[in-house]
Amino acid sequence: DIEIAIKVVIVGNGGVGKSSMIQRYCKGIFTKDYKKTIGVDFLERQIEIDGEDVRIMLWDTAGQERFRSITKSYYRNSVGVLLVYDITNYASFEHIPLWMMEAQRHIEPHRPVFALVGCKLDLVNAGGRREVSTEEAQTFAKEHGLHFVETSARNGVNVEEAFRMVTQEVYTR
Ligand code: GDP
Ligand code: MG
Repeated sequence: DIEIAIKVVIVGNGGVGKSSMIQRYCKGIFTKDYKKTIGVDFLERQIEIDGEDVRIMLWDTAGQERFRSITKSYYRNSVGVLLVYDITNYASFEHIPLWMMEAQRHIEPHRPVFALVGCKLDLVNAGGRREVSTEEAQTFAKEHGLHFVETSARNGVNVEEAFRMVTQEVYTR
């Protein structure tokens, strides 16, 4: 029996790789042509934390990021927030403080566990242009008390870790 469920929301600019992260984590796949988001619903995955079965419900935006119209119900009861940017797109990193404030405002009075996640690491490893240095992101994360990791939904690098950091802290605090 699963007794514990944890709701995690994933926010960030459109196109940074949020839906791909969720797909990779919950279904183990990366689809290049994956355009549509999973909508207002969520995907879930069951993991074990300290010997307990925990259900993680991952909420994805349905493209509302363009219109800044993510509603309070999207954030309701969430205990973890992934703040996602694309490491090959500096503008997506510049927006992170806004996403963080927006999430905090909706989740108040509770403070969720935040993780800063730099996506599309595979592009850099394949010789693409990095626009956000690891050091700059790390410094920002430290200043704001966020977990931090760089990931690739394409090859799966650090995707498990990104969710694990958040859920582990939620579970143990
Ligand atoms: P969202 O708008 O934040 O949900 O972003 P999507 O998950 O829809 O991804 C936007 C685009 O980036 C799509 O073309 C994806 O195939 C691509 N993408 C997402 N994650 C990665 C990744 O880790 N590596 C690479 N190379 N492309 C990615
Ligand atoms: Mg999406």
